[in-house]
Amino acid sequence: MVTNGNGAGHVSDATRRVTLIPGDGVGPEVIGAAVDVVEAAGIPVQWDRQEAGAAALKKYGTPVPDDLIRSLKRTRTALKGPLETRVGEGYRSINVHLRKTFNLYANLRPTHSFAGVHTPFRNVDLVVVRENTEDLYAGIEHQIMPGVVESIKVITARASTRIARFAFEYARRNGRTSVTAIHKANIMKLSDGLFLKCARRVAGEYKDIRYQEQIVDAACMRLVTDPASFDVLLLENLYGDIVSDLCAGLVGGLGMVPGANYGERGAIFEAVHGTAPDLAGRNIANPVAAILSGAMLAEYLGYPQAACAIRTAVGSVLRAGRTLTPDLGGHASTTEMTAAILRILKAPAERRNGGAGRASAS
Ligand code: NAD
Repeated sequence: MVTNGNGAGHVSDATRRVTLIPGDGVGPEVIGAAVDVVEAAGIPVQWDRQEAGAAALKKYGTPVPDDLIRSLKRTRTALKGPLETRVGEGYRSINVHLRKTFNLYANLRPTHSFAGVHTPFRNVDLVVVRENTEDLYAGIEHQIMPGVVESIKVITARASTRIARFAFEYARRNGRTSVTAIHKANIMKLSDGLFLKCARRVAGEYKDIRYQEQIVDAACMRLVTDPASFDVLLLENLYGDIVSDLCAGLVGGLGMVPGANYGERGAIFEAVHGTAPDLAGRNIANPVAAILSGAMLAEYLGYPQAACAIRTAVGSVLRAGRTLTPDLGGHASTTEMTAAILRILKAPAERRNGGAGRASAS
C-alpha cells in the first residue's frame, strides 16, 4: 500500500511504515520494481512516498523537503532510489545529508557472483563495509585564495572504532572469516593511521575473525586479479565509495549490487548505483540491485524467509538467462525482468526452489 504524506489509512499492528523515495533518473523505474517484489513476497509494508533530490527541487523548490525529513523521523526506515548530485556545482549531496542527519554510519554492500551473469570471475563473495559519516565527505571545503582550495579529511577514533566494530560483528554473525582494512596510511599517516589503529584495537576483540590490512591501490589490483581472496572489506568513506563500484564491476555491473545504510535507530536501503541518466525513462535499467536492496529491507523488518525467497527468485531468473536487461547481455525491459522475478516468487515453493540461486547473507 502506498500513501503520500502522513501515512493516513489503517495500518495493522504487523504492518510497518517505510518511507519510499523513488529518487531521480532510473530511480522510479527500479524502485517500482522493488516495491512490487517486496509486496509479492508478502511483507506487510505501508509505504509513505516522498520526493527528494532533483524531483523534489522541481516540485517543491528544495531537494530535501520538510515532509521527507518528518517521514524519515517517523518511520526510521526507507527504501530509496538514487538521487542526482551535480558535478562541481549545485546543492550538496542529499545522500550524504540524509546519512549524516540520521547517523546512518555503516554502509553495507554485499557483492557476489550469480550463475548466469557472465564475468571474468565466478566466485566473488565479498562485503564492502564503508564508513558513512566522515572523511572527505564531511564536505569541509574552502578557497584559501583564487586558484588554491582546501578539502578537509576528517577521521575520528569514535567513528573509526564504531565502523570497525560493525564490520567484525557483521563478519561474526554471518559466518565470515576475515576482515581486511583498506587504507593509505603510508601517505596519510595521521588520518588513515588513526583509522587503522582503531581497526587493530577492535580486531583484538575478535580472535575468531582473521584481520588483514592492505593499501588501497594494491587492494584494487588484488580485487581485479584475485577477488576470492577477500571476504569483508572495511573502508573509510571515499575508498568505500570507489571500491564499491569496482566490486560491482566484478559481478556484472552496477545494476547488480544492493546496499543498506545502517544506524543505531534506523536504516535506508538503496542500490549502489546512481541515477544512470543514460538509461532513465527507457525501461531498460537492471532492477536487480534495487530488488536485492528490498530483500535487505525485508530482513531488517524481520522477514528473513521472504528475503531468501526474493534472492532465490532473482537468482533463478539470472541463471535461466532468458529475461535479462541489456547491461547483462539480454534484450528484456526492466518491467519484463521484474515480471519474470515476480512469476518465480509467486510460484509454488517446489518450482521456486528448483531454480534456486544463492542466497547472500546480508
Ligand atoms: P551511475 O551509477 O548512475 O551510472 C554509472 C554507469 O552504470 C552508467 O553507465 C549506467 O548506465 C550504469 N548503471 C547504473 N545503474 C544501472 C542499472 N540499474 N542498470 C544498468 N546499468 C546501470 O553513476 P554516475 O553516472 O556517475 O552518476 C549519475 C548520478 O547519480 C550523479 O548525479 C551522481 O551524483 C548520482 N549518484 C547517486 C547515488 C545515490 O543516490 N546513492 C549513487 C551514485 C551516484
